[in-house]
Amino acid sequence: MATGSSSPCSIAFLLGLYSLFFSLFICWTQAAHLYSSEDPVTILHSGTVKQTLQNSSSAWLVQFYSSWCGHCIQYSPTWKALAGDVKDWEPAIQIGVLDCADEKNFDVCKEFGVHFYPTFRYFKARNNKFDLGKPYRGANRELPTVRQVMVNFLQNHSQEEWPPACPPLESSRSSDVLALLGKKKQQYTAVIIEDENSFVGREVILDLMQYDGLTVMRALGSDASLLEKLGILSLPAGYLFHPNGKHELMKVHKTLRFFFSSFLKLLPGVRRRKLQSPRSSDLAVQEGDAAATVWKEFDKSKVYMADLESGLHFLLRIELASHQTLEGKELETFKDFVTVIAKLFPGQQPVVKLLETLLEWLVSLPLDRIPYDAILDLVNNKMRISGMYLTNKLEWVGCQGSQPALRRYPCSLWTLFHTLTVQAAERPDALANTGLEENAQAVLQTMRRYIGSFFGCQECGRHFEEMAKESMDQVTTHNEAVLWLWRKHNTVNNRLAGALSEDPQFPKTRWPTPDLCPACHEEVEGLHAWNEKEVLAFLKRHYGASNISPKYTAGPEEGTAGGQEDKEPSEQKPGWEDPKYGAHSPKSPYLEKLQGKERQEEGIGLHKEAKPGMSFLGLGFSNIDLSLCVLMYVSSGLFLMIMFFFFRMRSKRWKVRHNRFSI
Ligand SMILES: Cc1cc2nc3c(=O)[nH]c(=O)nc-3n(C[C@H](O)[C@H](O)[C@H](O)COP(=O)(O)OP(=O)(O)OC[C@H]3O[C@@H](n4cnc5c(N)ncnc54)[C@H](O)[C@@H]3O)c2cc1C
Repeated sequence: MATGSSSPCSIAFLLGLYSLFFSLFICWTQAAHLYSSEDPVTILHSGTVKQTLQNSSSAWLVQFYSSWCGHCIQYSPTWKALAGDVKDWEPAIQIGVLDCADEKNFDVCKEFGVHFYPTFRYFKARNNKFDLGKPYRGANRELPTVRQVMVNFLQNHSQEEWPPACPPLESSRSSDVLALLGKKKQQYTAVIIEDENSFVGREVILDLMQYDGLTVMRALGSDASLLEKLGILSLPAGYLFHPNGKHELMKVHKTLRFFFSSFLKLLPGVRRRKLQSPRSSDLAVQEGDAAATVWKEFDKSKVYMADLESGLHFLLRIELASHQTLEGKELETFKDFVTVIAKLFPGQQPVVKLLETLLEWLVSLPLDRIPYDAILDLVNNKMRISGMYLTNKLEWVGCQGSQPALRRYPCSLWTLFHTLTVQAAERPDALANTGLEENAQAVLQTMRRYIGSFFGCQECGRHFEEMAKESMDQVTTHNEAVLWLWRKHNTVNNRLAGALSEDPQFPKTRWPTPDLCPACHEEVEGLHAWNEKEVLAFLKRHYGASNISPKYTAGPEEGTAGGQEDKEPSEQKPGWEDPKYGAHSPKSPYLEKLQGKERQEEGIGLHKEAKPGMSFLGLGFSNIDLSLCVLMYVSSGLFLMIMFFFFRMRSKRWKVRHNRFSI
């Protein structure tokens, strides 16, 4: 009996719990991007952006942003406010956003040539061709400025392109205005009289474009006789012609856009039109984050290889791939960057092999212009060189954010460069024969150039360049380089504390915190002070190869490297993180698996590992060159054999025929 009565209760309890979790899950996925369907912007994505912008009945202003970009996060309230402010303009011009940090949008952002975030582009109405849009590069991105640029952009439409629902924005002639005096009409006519460079009139016209019962015009106050006839003493001014022929100055509290627009919207008989805005709800629907990421437990005293590899994946396949070709200074920066990571990245052997192969290839190419697709082919190992692999999944661990828009890639970039500065200090010979070996600033200067040329967050790049200009050239040893980056990272933390891009679960603070390194902190005359000797020792430990956990790292075939997921480094087979094996020690379980497979393949003669590149007559030959040579050698051999048999057959046939004749 008791069981029978408790059953429905427990079912109800479970259902309640389920719905609670479900609503929490929904809230969580809603927070996945900087903009949600609650905002007045149209959220575009790879599946909708082209069809939305092409042949649209309205113009568009689209912000291509990245949800990890701190500046985009800070700017998002302004963008939402702008979209709300010009909501009534939608039939003429609409506001959209597209998140380039969303994996499903990577390709389309590349197609639109978006290199930096945020990138603002205007798209004209009624354009039936694919268009990259007109960039807006103005330094002032405040709401009133962007609104005015929108008006100018609309006015740049030709007659054929003009959005059909958009009223004329040019100023009317004084004679046309004066002709309205005393005339009876079906509806009100409002005229905003203003200076030529004032935007009030055009903004009011657009504000009222969806309202029936009224026409709004703009006239210039440069005609003194018009001002005199209408009794206007100051500009801007509003003049109203009633349907019954009455006319008067508009009595507004302040001669500002908002007051004119509100006054006109409240006139008797003036009503918002039931107009189907071109903003289609299906286009606006944002695909949910299909695969909701599960929170991964991690230890903040560790550095995670998964973060470093995810960062490299994003950097090589997404951030750099937005550049169609690399040449000149960009190519030099890329080459130096690849040199530094190939020599110093304390990664798994397949990743290091990929970086080394990439470096070898770049060094051997005498080109001064490289299409990025060729680099991508190598990064994606299209040549199927065995034992070479970089994850193509974003698997954030120590860089997870409490919301998907927070932390992630920039966090991994900091982590990568701290790791590289520490590696340069711990293995000073690693850069031997690269041209960078004498330079204690090698990693820092490479980072500086990378950030300046390629890092998507332009504002961040500008701030970093300011810090670099100030003191980077004073660095004279590898240890100083480690400390310089630490100090500057703390400066950035300090500046961003409390900012919108701060993850509340990972507040920005002076780092390392006392729980990570108590000895790093001191107090001098009641004030906090750093013990830099301890800080240096801590940074070397923290970012050293032996503190990098392979937990959650992905392998080429399985989601995670066989069994690594639940193992701490100490549980790994000896050697992977053991400094005596060097940073590139091929002892991870993942590697052993890969090597086992390789041995198997070699046994049945299917696949042989490509030998490292070689040099001949001063020319560098990469693995690809060598593979091509072998291929050409084999095909020439085959060709000669075929020719040999062909001529033999022919000569036999000829002999047979000849003999018959003689018979
Ligand atoms: C070069 C650069 C410049 C940037 N500039 C800006 C900017 O101007 N505006 C903006 O909004 N965002 C900027 N960002 C992004 C911002 O700094 C953070 O990366 C982002 O907000 C994510 O923060 P986070 O909490 O993951 O910690 P992050 O600051 O990304 O740090 C990552 C990890 O590094 C460790 N760490 C923290 N401080 C230090 C330190 N001092 N030394 C060594 N290790 C440390 C911690 O383990 C931390 O979790 C920049 C990023 C980069 C790479």
